[in-house]
Amino acid sequence: MQDIDILVIGSGIGGLCAAGLLARYGKRVIVCESHTIPGGAAHSFKRRGFEFDSGPSFYCGLSESHSLNPLKQLLDVLGESLQVIPYDPLGHYHFPEGTFAVYSNGELYRQELAKITPQGAKEFQQFEQRLLGLYDAMKGIPTLALRADWQVIPLLLQRYLPDLGKMLFNLPIVQTSVGSVMNATIKDPWVKRLIDLECFLLSGLKAEGTIAPEVAFMLGERCRAGVEYPLGGSKAIVDALVRGLQRWGGELRLGCHVEQILVEGGKAVGVKLKSGEILKAPIVISNATLWDTYNHLLHPEDLPASYRQAALDTPAVESFMHLHLGIKAEGLENLTGHHVVVHDSHQDITVAGNTCMISIPSVWDASLAPAGNHVVHAYTLEPYEGWERNDDYENQKREKAQSLYRALERIIPDIRERVVLELIGTPLTHAHYLRRYQGTYGPAIAAGKGMFPGTHTPIKGLYRVGDSTLPGIGVPAVAASGILCANTLVSVLQMLEVL
Ligand SMILES: Cc1cc2nc3c(=O)[nH]c(=O)nc-3n(C[C@H](O)[C@H](O)[C@H](O)COP(=O)(O)OP(=O)(O)OC[C@H]3O[C@@H](n4cnc5c(N)ncnc54)[C@H](O)[C@@H]3O)c2cc1C
Repeated sequence: MQDIDILVIGSGIGGLCAAGLLARYGKRVIVCESHTIPGGAAHSFKRRGFEFDSGPSFYCGLSESHSLNPLKQLLDVLGESLQVIPYDPLGHYHFPEGTFAVYSNGELYRQELAKITPQGAKEFQQFEQRLLGLYDAMKGIPTLALRADWQVIPLLLQRYLPDLGKMLFNLPIVQTSVGSVMNATIKDPWVKRLIDLECFLLSGLKAEGTIAPEVAFMLGERCRAGVEYPLGGSKAIVDALVRGLQRWGGELRLGCHVEQILVEGGKAVGVKLKSGEILKAPIVISNATLWDTYNHLLHPEDLPASYRQAALDTPAVESFMHLHLGIKAEGLENLTGHHVVVHDSHQDITVAGNTCMISIPSVWDASLAPAGNHVVHAYTLEPYEGWERNDDYENQKREKAQSLYRALERIIPDIRERVVLELIGTPLTHAHYLRRYQGTYGPAIAAGKGMFPGTHTPIKGLYRVGDSTLPGIGVPAVAASGILCANTLVSVLQMLEVL
């Protein structure tokens, strides 16, 4: 037990990235994962030959060298790589008034926009240029060169002075919301709605609530690197991170639920597992959400009361209804993989059931479904409140899944006749399998309305990673959170060796 340098609670992408990099730096790391499958929100599961992604399916920059995706930068230093399938258009948005192809290629994207609103397409170009200026400024500094303490300043000054200058020039826009950039450049209501939708898909919030760098990065990366799907599904990413961790001597324990973070004299000293076993280490990193860490893993008296209350009061994005289907593929030769369906233009896009996301990854990787079948994942926001495992649970599930079926009918009209396997997940399912507070997608900290708390905590030796530490819910952002945390725990010299 004396041998452990760092304990990581949770094998989400944030936890695995922190653990992998720390192992790469030579630290003795153990990751304790409650589930029997690693990956958290990005884990995959198999039923009757169908390999389902439980969450993410949309990725950029996983394969190119010198990628800006923090996840790829980390895989590189761990000596891991992924095989990917590039595709474009990256998806189709289905509005009640028609369907719109979304291209990674900026020129093609604007051409599609111009078919609907020529003036809107011109305005969009101005919006895009503002944000791409910010992206250009950000892209010179790799995430691997960042850390969450003052030592980042001399490091950046020494190695990235011109890029730092560009960033400082863009500082006003770094702090703003996408809404401000949109209102300054766009009048067309249809394009505004489109931008709201893209922001919502990224952050769970509309343009007013989403920070500009998040969308700048998304637009820049999808134009520059394109969109791709990992061969083997999201599981391939998680497997690569686990292999990388193990290659550098780290350990992953599955089915290993942490019940308590042990704190002595204001300092984290280890964890107590559900099994009763105690693991001691001078550093503990929690990849559980902010609410789960502060509510369940610590005693209230471990934290300053006002800090704890403010943290627990952080608003959360709602949870999800999920529909995982295995379907017969016959006659669906021209099917494409990503779709977003908005049922009702008069209702807000954030209303539960109104915006439905669909992913059919077997169109890119046929091995994810038995021959002659496709694997489908459809999901939509759904509040946690109102769900209970009572006598009505099964009926409520079926009823709530109808908006997802109706969305799928826009793409595959006879979807219901094709189903060979159906799994419906509710916010209770999501909270249970992902061990996430109320099954939330993540914190709803709107741009300008609060700061993300970062990796430090008031408890010495206790750090946090994952989507409730840095802005930008999503795989690149949580990978960045893991990298920043790991770098903060080593010397600049060690960082430079890896860089
Ligand atoms: C439906 C859906 C679709 C998405 N689509 C995309 C997409 O296309 N592209 C994209 O980039 N992002 C997408 N995301 C977002 C992305 O998947 C998440 O932001 C990211 O995976 C969250 O990672 P995390 O590190 O914060 O941790 P989590 O994924 O929350 O993992 C935390 C881990 O900690 C474990 N844990 C918690 N408590 C304990 C405990 N007490 N003991 C032991 N282990 C514990 C959990 O079991 C879990 O494995 C999507 C998310 C969802 C839900």
